[in-house]
Amino acid sequence: MKRTGGSHLSRRRVARVVENLKPSGIRKFFDLVIGREDVISLGVGEPDFAVPWRIREEMIYSLEKGYTSYTSNHGLPELREAIAEYYKRFGLDTNPEQVIVTAGVSEAIDLALRTVVEPGDGVLIPEPCYVSYKPLSILCGAEVVTIPTNPDFKLNYDRIRQYVNEKSKVLIVNYPANPTGVSYSKKELEEIADAVLEFDLLVISDEIYAEFTYKGRHMSIASLNGMEDRVVVLNGFSKAFAMTGLRIGYAIAPADVLLGMLKIHQYCMLCAPITGQIGALEALKCLDEVERIKAEYMRRRNYVVKKLREVFDVNMPDGAFYVFPDISSTGMSSEEFAEKLLIEKGVAVVPGNAFGECGEGYIRAAYAVKFERLKEAVERIIDFAKEHGKS
Ligand code: PLP
Repeated sequence: MKRTGGSHLSRRRVARVVENLKPSGIRKFFDLVIGREDVISLGVGEPDFAVPWRIREEMIYSLEKGYTSYTSNHGLPELREAIAEYYKRFGLDTNPEQVIVTAGVSEAIDLALRTVVEPGDGVLIPEPCYVSYKPLSILCGAEVVTIPTNPDFKLNYDRIRQYVNEKSKVLIVNYPANPTGVSYSKKELEEIADAVLEFDLLVISDEIYAEFTYKGRHMSIASLNGMEDRVVVLNGFSKAFAMTGLRIGYAIAPADVLLGMLKIHQYCMLCAPITGQIGALEALKCLDEVERIKAEYMRRRNYVVKKLREVFDVNMPDGAFYVFPDISSTGMSSEEFAEKLLIEKGVAVVPGNAFGECGEGYIRAAYAVKFERLKEAVERIIDFAKEHGKS
């Protein structure tokens, strides 16, 4: 049969909504440094620790035994049970039926948004924020309203009240936060919860850095009075257990939302990878390892903040492994600063505007590199600042 009509699709190939998405500003810088040995990268949020040995051993053993099948769509029952038990640590009393295991928190964010957002619904996103919230909301047809939070980078009642409108349905919170390291006290969370109740919102709470909370213990917003039926908690194993490539995250959600998320998950993912799930189950028995890693991050945080304050204004991060210094006094834009720093000093950081417009004037530096390398990178940043007029 002769085919007619030419080799190209005559209609638009890539959907408009996808074509209009901006590529991630983090990846751009990541790609620039691939293969450059001379560069110290404080760019991506990738832990520099190997997965604790006990976890690796458990995964290797499972492969030797031939455990390479699908699991239940929900995730391994033992893992869901262990996650429900683990979350008591953050004040939340939940049960395995409310847990779904996903391919990283990334998938969980997507599932949560796709489950609750209808075209035209409002999603409130405090900025600066993790790069996927806005694009994934837009893909659901959401009307995104960003809440600028500089200079303290904290969400609070007044800021929510100022930006909420009649379409607002979902509020995304993330703490300890990427890129700012901000976290909240119980009182501050209660203030946010008051706004959630008053404006009848549903919260998607990304708590992926919960283990790296430097003062006290992380508290889930879902554990506050009145919040149990309004919060989808997201967390995972990428950061706390350095398991980024194993792709295990999870959500703890009210029954109706969980069911919706499960439906999408079973069609688009089927299940999270079994090897990672087995590793995750072992990980929850290794919390002492996390304490050790946290102590090292805290040492690095203290060092980086103290040194960078010689040249920049820097908020003390409460958690995660990022600092977010204000570089506006150099007169350079965030992108200009990051590009020149890379070219002149071989240090990669991410321009603050990759996390939203109000991140302009800042850079994000991840202290997830070995202490000696970190010291070298910080010294190069300070030299760079001084050469560009800072004293
Ligand atoms: N949420 C936040 C705030 C992050 O910083 C990241 C990764 O950097 C993710 C989610 C994605 O995590 P995962 O590797 O579990 O998909």
